Amino acid sequence: MKNSKMHLSTETMNLGFVRKVEALSGSSVRRCFQCGKCSAGCPMRTFMEHPPNRIVRLLQLGQYERVLAGRSIWYCASCETCSTRCPNKVDLAAIMDALRKLSWDADGPSKESLVQLANRLFIENIKTYGRQYEMRLAAAFNLRSGKLLKDFMLGPKLLTKGKLKMFHQKNRNISEIERIFSRIEEMRKKGEAP
Ligand code: SF4
Ligand code: SF4
Repeated sequence: MKNSKMHLSTETMNLGFVRKVEALSGSSVRRCFQCGKCSAGCPMRTFMEHPPNRIVRLLQLGQYERVLAGRSIWYCASCETCSTRCPNKVDLAAIMDALRKLSWDADGPSKESLVQLANRLFIENIKTYGRQYEMRLAAAFNLRSGKLLKDFMLGPKLLTKGKLKMFHQKNRNISEIERIFSRIEEMRKKGEAP
């Protein structure tokens, strides 16, 4: 019978991408030997199309685009069970976090692109107002996601209970917040931030 063993090497993976994940997470992707203990303990595993151990395997096989296009990274609850259980000290929770960061600039729509849209609008609000403006966030999300009536009936209830405000004032330290965003932008240009 033909020997079908597969040998992982720098040629089987996209080394540039793996290095980015390792730098951001502070954890080795290459060290995983596929024992599956992480997936056995993951509470979100049933919602994921790729369980945690397979996420690492896909990275080792250079198939990071499948990982970024999938929903698994968005269902991860950052509970760190996987990292605690790993006998090889692979910090999978940190790897999941790094993958979510890297998906920000990835080409092609993620299956959970609405999560990315919500993230972007959240950050835009902070940039503009220096704080969160929930009414604007909900309205912009419904408009840009095409789900115009999503949670529409909740709005009046939240307004009457004072949980939502119709109008919002900018944070008085907005100039400080603008400086933070400019600094992050500079760091990203220099490759010092993801
Ligand atoms: S527990 Fe660790 S070594 Fe085992 S499959 Fe998961 S990440 Fe890999
Ligand atoms: S950190 Fe994420 S991947 Fe790891 S066990 Fe928790 S939910 Fe699963």
